[in-house]
Amino acid sequence: MEFKGANNLQDLQYFGEYGGVNPSISDSSTYTFLSAKTMFDTFEGNTEGCYLYSRHSSPSNLYLGEAMAALEGTESANVYASGMGAITATIMQLCNAGDHIVSSRTIYGGTYAFMKNYLKKFNIKTAFVDATQIALVEQAITSKTKMIYCESISNPLLEVVDIKALASLAKSKGIPLVVDNTFSPLTISAARLGADIVIHSLTKFINGTSDCVAGAVCGTKSFCLALKDVNNGSGMLLGSTLDSLRSASILKNMRTLHIRIKKHSENALYLAQRFEQDGLKVGYPGLKSHPGHTVLKNQMNQDYGFGGLLTLEVGSLKRANALMEMMQDQKLGYLAVSLGFYKTLFSAPGTSTSSEIPLEEQMAMGLGDGLIRFSIGLDNDIHRTYGTMKNCMLQLGILSQNKVS
Ligand code: PLP
Repeated sequence: MEFKGANNLQDLQYFGEYGGVNPSISDSSTYTFLSAKTMFDTFEGNTEGCYLYSRHSSPSNLYLGEAMAALEGTESANVYASGMGAITATIMQLCNAGDHIVSSRTIYGGTYAFMKNYLKKFNIKTAFVDATQIALVEQAITSKTKMIYCESISNPLLEVVDIKALASLAKSKGIPLVVDNTFSPLTISAARLGADIVIHSLTKFINGTSDCVAGAVCGTKSFCLALKDVNNGSGMLLGSTLDSLRSASILKNMRTLHIRIKKHSENALYLAQRFEQDGLKVGYPGLKSHPGHTVLKNQMNQDYGFGGLLTLEVGSLKRANALMEMMQDQKLGYLAVSLGFYKTLFSAPGTSTSSEIPLEEQMAMGLGDGLIRFSIGLDNDIHRTYGTMKNCMLQLGILSQNKVS
């Protein structure tokens, strides 16, 4: 049966301190105890329902964590001050010095840089592989491998991994599968497909208003508690705690996530189909021509569509830059990194969000410098948007008149 993360969210009901329909925001960094013994027990992690200090946990962060666990169908979830805060805490929790990671080669540039460069400090090595090829993932696993890492729909190439197959490989090797599901909340329920840990940058679709950075780790109760452990927890000790005020505002925005995702997907599919008919090189997992189409179709929750991200290959960085500047002038959206906003956002990943990946590796994974990544917005009249975008492309010679449908 299809997992309905949105129905789980629908069933969440909060009562504020004074009966408000929104929970009260916790406005304290520290908490009082009526007895010294309870404080000691709380430090030892033995006292349910007691708050100690807001880097450890706070009521507002627990509410948002509860919503994230409901969304992904996991036992628990912790929230962090950024997606990278969630990713780095997870990696540092799972790996010790000298360990090894097998990761998809097409991942967010910051995650790639952390694994490739930063983890050298701890002699933790990462094998970057084409994670759509299970045999390559299996071959890369060594006796020191502590996790398989991938993105459900990858940044920026929109590659789709077979989560069930990766999960069963991970299980057979006794290691966890960690999936960053930032690009496909609701569309993909990674934990339901077998992922052990699901990560989100809440900065993107889940918050949806491009006004803050935040992240989440969804997993078992024991893993989430381990991250908060006062002696050894990477979340607690590295300190990327989300502020309560932000937690509260993200929780409120989450209530429209299902509506927004459907509209992002509907608009992106419309544009992808039109541009493909016009003869452009479009990357969108909702198109039959996309290499990951069948895999995604088989593992997605159908109600939410194929997501809001699409790519266009326009041939060169010069053309990509000219098109993005013209589209911004035409009020089609913003030349900006990030995704999940109500307006369309576009950037050339080779020179922005994936610039941490060396050029030759970008080429090997098929990331050309004329590639534009679009996060399609919630435009009410997407047909008009299409017409205006097409005009920009005609003016710049990216489309020729005789090719246009
Ligand atoms: N994961 C993915 C897939 C991303 O695209 C990003 C940021 O672009 C991150 C993680 C990092 O998230 P944050 O910017 O919230 O730290």
